[in-house]
Amino acid sequence: MNTRRIALLATLAVLVALFFAFDLGRFLTLDFFKSQQAAIESWRAAHPAVAALAYFVVYVAVTGLSLPGAAVMTLAGGAVFGLGWGLVLVSFASSIGATLAFLASRYLLRDAVQAKFGDRLQALNAGVEREGGFYLFTLRLVPVFPFFVINLAMGLTPIRTWTFYWVSQVGMLAGTLAYVNAGTQFARIDSVAGILSPALVGSFALLGVFPLLAKKIVEIARMKKVYEGWTKPARFDRNLVVIGGGAAGLVTSYIAAAVKAKVTLVEKHKLGGDCLNTGCVPSKALIRSAKLLSHMGRSAEFGIRSARAEFDFAEVMERVQRVIRTVEPHDSAERYTGLGVDVVEGTAKLVSPWEVEIVRDGGHRERLTTRSVVLATGARPFVPPIPGIDDVGYLTSDTVWSLRERPRRLLVLGGGPIGCELTQAFARLGSAVTQVEMLPRLMVREDPEVSELVMRRFRAEGIRVLTDHKAKAFVVEGGEKILVAEHADAEVRIPFDAVLVALGRAANLKGYGLEELGIPNGRTIETNAFLQTNYPNIYAAGDVAGPFQFTHTAAHQAWYAAVNALFAPFKKFKADYSVIPWATFVEPEVARVGLNEQEAKARGIAYEATVYGLDDLDRAIADDEAHGFVKVLTVPGKDRILGVTIVGEHAGDLIAEYVLAMKQGIGLNKILGTIHIYPTLAEANKYAAGAWKKAHTPERLLAWVERFHAWRRGRPRSPERATQPAGETA
Ligand SMILES: Cc1cc2nc3c(=O)[nH]c(=O)nc-3n(C[C@H](O)[C@H](O)[C@H](O)COP(=O)(O)OP(=O)(O)OC[C@H]3O[C@@H](n4cnc5c(N)ncnc54)[C@H](O)[C@@H]3O)c2cc1C
Repeated sequence: MNTRRIALLATLAVLVALFFAFDLGRFLTLDFFKSQQAAIESWRAAHPAVAALAYFVVYVAVTGLSLPGAAVMTLAGGAVFGLGWGLVLVSFASSIGATLAFLASRYLLRDAVQAKFGDRLQALNAGVEREGGFYLFTLRLVPVFPFFVINLAMGLTPIRTWTFYWVSQVGMLAGTLAYVNAGTQFARIDSVAGILSPALVGSFALLGVFPLLAKKIVEIARMKKVYEGWTKPARFDRNLVVIGGGAAGLVTSYIAAAVKAKVTLVEKHKLGGDCLNTGCVPSKALIRSAKLLSHMGRSAEFGIRSARAEFDFAEVMERVQRVIRTVEPHDSAERYTGLGVDVVEGTAKLVSPWEVEIVRDGGHRERLTTRSVVLATGARPFVPPIPGIDDVGYLTSDTVWSLRERPRRLLVLGGGPIGCELTQAFARLGSAVTQVEMLPRLMVREDPEVSELVMRRFRAEGIRVLTDHKAKAFVVEGGEKILVAEHADAEVRIPFDAVLVALGRAANLKGYGLEELGIPNGRTIETNAFLQTNYPNIYAAGDVAGPFQFTHTAAHQAWYAAVNALFAPFKKFKADYSVIPWATFVEPEVARVGLNEQEAKARGIAYEATVYGLDDLDRAIADDEAHGFVKVLTVPGKDRILGVTIVGEHAGDLIAEYVLAMKQGIGLNKILGTIHIYPTLAEANKYAAGAWKKAHTPERLLAWVERFHAWRRGRPRSPERATQPAGETA
């Protein structure tokens, strides 16, 4: 806390202390006012302006300092100034006082509260930013919580000060009117509590609920408006039509069929989508072959003098296709038909909010009416318009799998997960790979030391990693393809034989009715927390909805999309993104769940980092993979996990324990108390918890335990006595 804050806090504390020390509260009681009413009124009659000003200032001070007595002051306002002026004075004084208390709380406490609980307050903050006015209005109308609590609590949220002021003034008006009016009958009032009869409280409650009702009505009206001009079918052919048969679409239709809905899944290319055909499965198959080669190259590390691998790149790429074919039945039309899904091979397009037109592969056209639709149309590689890119011809994650000849010099554009995975795999398969990244390091979402470990390994494996290099143009000179890049204000020319563009993935947003229906989209389709588009019966899931682009998040969203599409408005669930893990399958493997340090810092979330180095782990040593670390971020002083990064062999598997822990609210103490098989890599998770525990050793308690042990041993004997022969007692 800086000196200004300390000074303000001290001033407020002194003022409050003075109030109680001098028992000033006795002047803010009904009895006192009654006893002084005549004198006060005659003074007011003699000095109306001064009286009004004095009353106003005292009222602001009482509410601003959150002192007890505002209700009595309001009554007195009615008694002394009458209904009209009383209402004006109290309304402004109470709102200004409340805003001062709000500002003091914001200035003194908000940073600390947000820093400590920011991660947990995220949803609340977002809610308050969106509709804080509504909540405040309700709280002001329904006197459930004392107003001073509301003032202080609201100061900790992101609500704007002006909003707080005017909503408070409007919201408190009805209550103020009731009290000031009651004050005009001051002589007949015996207790403050008696002023608000149950009927009056009831009407306030109704008024308080009104904004929420109004909001619901606005929502329903908005919902109805979006459907204006469309004719809703009287009956539907399907409960659900799912467009796109990748991870999101397959899981959505599977769930729909499992709960006995009539569901059609339309896929225009290949079931399984990107993950099976051009993404996770082929990349991991390629990485596996490449890893074997890398291990053979490291044979001496394992005590084997030499090991030689003979291989044909085309055969490796054929194996990749074999792996796809082996996994394919999991995502096949036969399997899903067997599960109860109506699988259609064709291109789907929304033609109304309840109607999907399907052009089957043979050209047959049909329309299906459906109560709900889930858009799971995925994403495609993003290819920026770099001058000359079309002239050199480029590969993407869609097309690289058809290569059968290994590129001698491969240029990889992009230092994200896909670029990194393919860079290392191709380098291990023998291509001379140059990886170009515009930013200062690879895998920028991860902490700097993670990128550092990966880059060091890449360079050790002979990969040319060029960070801070911005691709400007492609040229062909004398038959040679060259990337012209900018680095430190100078031009760098990088010759290559093939270029793989791995610069991110763009959601598929065109050609299936989004424009015609006016479904808002930017980088992805816009959805609410229930995954609904602006048409509440049309949902989106997976890469096309974002914000994540993983198979497991697509499947996760699919559950919400399916259940909400089938059961809303009776029941719907907000998609839960509280614990999202992912991994990048380079060597060393990188896995993460929750926050890392750079995110915690950027969001102002206080954390404690515990790092356990895998170079210490028996199994990692035995496997000659003793590198990397487990880094756990926890709430300072507590064992609650905020996030974990693991770098090392099988990091993507190891992190599962922490994913479970975070999801189920299990802390490091419980991980430490759980048996882990020796010798496994998984022990690293326990040792990381142990490192945290060691850093939190209860020293004072241990000092007492030491005394306890000393006491159990008895009083130490003197050295002479200890050496006396047995039997020679004094
Ligand atoms: C190289 C690479 C490696 C990856 N590795 C991993 C990984 O290791 N782990 C991980 O979690 N994720 C990985 N991903 C990401 C993962 O593949 C995607 O997040 C996932 O496939 C998204 O699934 P989806 O269902 O949203 O979209 P998609 O799988 O793209 O499916 C969308 C489907 O919709 C179809 N479609 C589109 N429009 C229409 C239409 N009008 N009518 C009918 N059908 C239509 C498309 O043909 C497509 O099949 C990787 C991606 C790539 C490219």
